[in-house]
Amino acid sequence: AVFEGLSEKLQETMKKLRGKGRVTEKDVKEMMREIKLALLEADVNFKVVKDFIAKVSERAVGQDVLESLTPGQQVIKIVNDELIDLMGREQSKVSFSSRPPTVFMMVGLQGSGKTTTSGKLANLMRKQGKNPLLVACDVYRPAAIKQLQVVGNQLGIPVFSMGDSLSPVDIAKASIEHAASKQHDLVIIDTAGRLHIDEGLMDELLNIKNSVKPHEILLVVDSMTGQDAVNVADSFNKKLGVDGMVLTKLDGDTRGGAAISTKAVTGKPIKFVGMGEKLSDLEPFFPDRMVSRILGMGDVLSLIEKAQDAFDEKKAIEMEKKMRTMQFTFDDFLEQMQQVKKMGPLSQVLNMIPGMNAKALQGVDIDGEEKNLARTEAIIKSMTRQERNDSSIINGSRRKRIAAGSGTSVQEVNKLLKSFEEMKKMFKMMSDMNKHGKKKLGKF
Ligand code: GDP
Repeated sequence: AVFEGLSEKLQETMKKLRGKGRVTEKDVKEMMREIKLALLEADVNFKVVKDFIAKVSERAVGQDVLESLTPGQQVIKIVNDELIDLMGREQSKVSFSSRPPTVFMMVGLQGSGKTTTSGKLANLMRKQGKNPLLVACDVYRPAAIKQLQVVGNQLGIPVFSMGDSLSPVDIAKASIEHAASKQHDLVIIDTAGRLHIDEGLMDELLNIKNSVKPHEILLVVDSMTGQDAVNVADSFNKKLGVDGMVLTKLDGDTRGGAAISTKAVTGKPIKFVGMGEKLSDLEPFFPDRMVSRILGMGDVLSLIEKAQDAFDEKKAIEMEKKMRTMQFTFDDFLEQMQQVKKMGPLSQVLNMIPGMNAKALQGVDIDGEEKNLARTEAIIKSMTRQERNDSSIINGSRRKRIAAGSGTSVQEVNKLLKSFEEMKKMFKMMSDMNKHGKKKLGKF
């Protein structure tokens, strides 16, 4: 899997620091050396690595870190933060025009996955309520037009093409008129690719850009090509100007360097990642989630770490044990929620609560989430002691009583019970993973 090598090395390195009561400057230096090697081996751009190490080192050897109660964790947190920064921190979304149709122009080298990605993106956008039109503008390879038509057919999404006798600019222009007349609010233009960047291709893409004024130019790059992918991205961006990247084939055997360096080198964010050959295998890119995957720190773990930093070390260890052994109850949940409340801005903390994060992660309304938390709390408080200890006894009539007692609905109670079960399953899975020895969760 992607990042496997890098993950293993980084986790190995950080494990040495976890739970260390004292960390010296020498420890930090040694750790930085190891991280540097791991990143270079993962094919991260050399300059990016250098800057990264300099930043982390500077922050990590600060007195407030070394003299803190949990220096090992502080250093790990710094590595985590800086990696997220490197990849763009926030999720970068595509933008839509207030006057539809919105136009996305897909560009990239041949073989990068451009045509497949155009289809995947149309599919994803349709799920979000758009009515997309795919446009075949690669007039040099009849096979390319055919390929897009096949993809469109599979998805049941119309493909606009005018064969190969008109210029790509004319086809693109005509497609937008066509879209407007057919109520398509999104046009996704698949342009021609070449094996290498050449002037002719760039001129053509510039012409299309100037005549249709796309709202998003998305560059598709193949993550398997490592540093080459980053160089390609840089050239495209300098010559054409792009709004974001789509990194394909992250499901493959790539070492991950491209995902880590693209943003730093080009200044342009990764917006989506291709995770497989199926037309459903495209995901929005979240820097923080990617980093927690790389560092093998589940969200829950960082929650515990935070709780521990802010509160009581003993309690955190206890809690962690409960989670691993499936003895985690609603009472524990409630206690954690109350701690969470004190932990800082909800927007940050919410990201870490299993089962509750999906909405928050899409950057929607924190006030609403704040209310959700309050309702969750009310529901748990309406449970009897017995119910909190063993949620399996909460049958239909108990659910009704709890809903009435908390001023919520049975539906909401059901939802909470369900996400609580999911959370427990996740803990179980994590503890099983731990048993099998592979991704050790580490001690605190
Ligand atoms: P184009 O020449 O840039 O239009 O590239 P294609 O869309 O034809 O894709 C080239 C090959 O890469 C095809 O075999 C795709 O199935 C494959 N591909 C594209 N994206 C992904 C991905 O995210 N994961 C995997 N495993 N394969 C992909």
